Amino acid sequence: MAPFHLGAAAWAGLFHSAESMFQPGHGGTLVPMTETVDAPTATRIPHWIGGRRVDGGSGRSGPVYNPATGRQTGAVDFATAEEVDAAVQAARDAFPAWRQTSLAKRAELFFRIRELLHARREEVAAILTREHGKVLSDALGEVTRGLEVVEHCCGIPTLLKGEHSEQASTGIDVYSIRQPLGVVAGITPFNFPAMVPMWMWAPAIASGNCFVLKPSEKDPSASLWVAELLREAGLPDGVFNVVMGDKVAVDALLEHPDVASISFVGSTPIARYVYENATASGKRCQALGGAKNHMIVLPDADVGAAADAAISAGYGSAGERCMAVSVVVAVGDVAQPLVDAIRERIPRVRVGDGMDPSSEMGPLVTGDHRDRVASYVENAPGEGATVVVDGREGVPEEGFFLNPSLLDGVTPEMKAYVDEIFGPVLGVTRVATYDEAVRLVNESPYGNGVALFTRDGGAARQFEFDVQAGMVGINVPVPVPVAYYSFGGWKSSLFGDLHVYGPEAIGFYTRGKVVTSRWPDPATSRIDLGFPQTR
Ligand code: NAD
Repeated sequence: MAPFHLGAAAWAGLFHSAESMFQPGHGGTLVPMTETVDAPTATRIPHWIGGRRVDGGSGRSGPVYNPATGRQTGAVDFATAEEVDAAVQAARDAFPAWRQTSLAKRAELFFRIRELLHARREEVAAILTREHGKVLSDALGEVTRGLEVVEHCCGIPTLLKGEHSEQASTGIDVYSIRQPLGVVAGITPFNFPAMVPMWMWAPAIASGNCFVLKPSEKDPSASLWVAELLREAGLPDGVFNVVMGDKVAVDALLEHPDVASISFVGSTPIARYVYENATASGKRCQALGGAKNHMIVLPDADVGAAADAAISAGYGSAGERCMAVSVVVAVGDVAQPLVDAIRERIPRVRVGDGMDPSSEMGPLVTGDHRDRVASYVENAPGEGATVVVDGREGVPEEGFFLNPSLLDGVTPEMKAYVDEIFGPVLGVTRVATYDEAVRLVNESPYGNGVALFTRDGGAARQFEFDVQAGMVGINVPVPVPVAYYSFGGWKSSLFGDLHVYGPEAIGFYTRGKVVTSRWPDPATSRIDLGFPQTR
């Protein structure tokens, strides 16, 4: 029995009844919502607009699965442009009052949100496991890292402080203030259905904006759960809205004249598309894309520790992390002992249903994705790589499982090296020197995370200086920055200037204003047509 079993009552509270799977059709008859709903017991997952659930009226929806069983459990509404407009309108209506809300009250509310999220984190973790597939301990880890961002936002009075210069010129003071943008939107990926939205809504709302979230259609329920929790904490209706959907909803947000900014996290082609279109319609945009993270192991590294790290970072969350290690670059004669150490550890990774507390790695998110990931193992020998461990062997028939795979002799021309596989397939690339290893990283089109394993402090320092990536780990395989720094990659891993959460998020979600003020003193008043000088 899983320790965090979500009772039926909790699920009933979260979702609509089966009846709401149907909606009035033309002429008043009830018609099935969409052709894509193939499971009669699937629960409908609606939008959240203006502080309540709103059923979509498009007649389009997407299937949501339990990846551990492979069965469809939900059907998520896909919004029309009009439904997106309704969510933006709700946010617009809520903005004037929310903007007026004092920093003290906002901080107090964020403390309440923090307490509620902390107390109920096991509930949302169970939802993540059931829709994403990641194991419960990992889902709890996701919620905990997201909570750190909420905690950081409890300090919003300090984070929004401006600067003040008294007597900048005689009798004149100058000071800076930061003001919210208005209605801001976030579009998020499937792999962190709770944490990545928290990266966005927490700093956006704390800074005084109203938020419209378009979560991944693959695992959307956590966003509804969060919406309920924010209302329970006392967030006014309309400050946080959720529109479910696909490209139609995304395009409607990108084009909407009342949306001031777009935060996006997802794959590189969509990140590029979102950035180009958001900025073309005059919006501020930060669009985080995909990754191909290298872990370089120097000959002096502790082989056992490096192998442990490669296993943890390569197969954790079944490799479906943008900070997952997908290439181990073995420098010099460390290669063979390292491959042996990783191979020897792989059978110890317990793969199974994420609700089972003994599982360490769950299934992949969908059957299609599992098959795509498996194709890299299938094609590896044809490209010249060696399949050291074949994860297609011994998988259960039910669910979207794939066991860990290890490829050796992967070279930069191979698809297994070039593509972001986003699954439990670790490739080893053998190089002769440190310079060759760094060149590989720097020539990659991505620049999200990178890690170096060594016992040489001088080499580590040189690496920090040389490497072209936004997040660097020294003997740390998944260097996700703490909440009071900011998260973001370089090159095709980020389109835009500002990273997410931390200080850069406050900059992203606010506009600066500088006030130059003089209080009239008739004794010093005179006409001066020259350009203002400081005196
Ligand atoms: P995705 O790009 O397929 O989807 C992301 C979002 O874009 C979803 O909300 C989806 O509905 C929407 N979308 C998908 N296709 C679209 C289209 N054609 N037009 C408009 N919108 C569209 O990404 P995913 O598969 O959900 O997530 C995995 C990807 O996200 C990986 O590439 C991973 O590296 C990346 N990711 C990056 C980071 C980061 O911080 N850089 C973090 C997490 C995930």
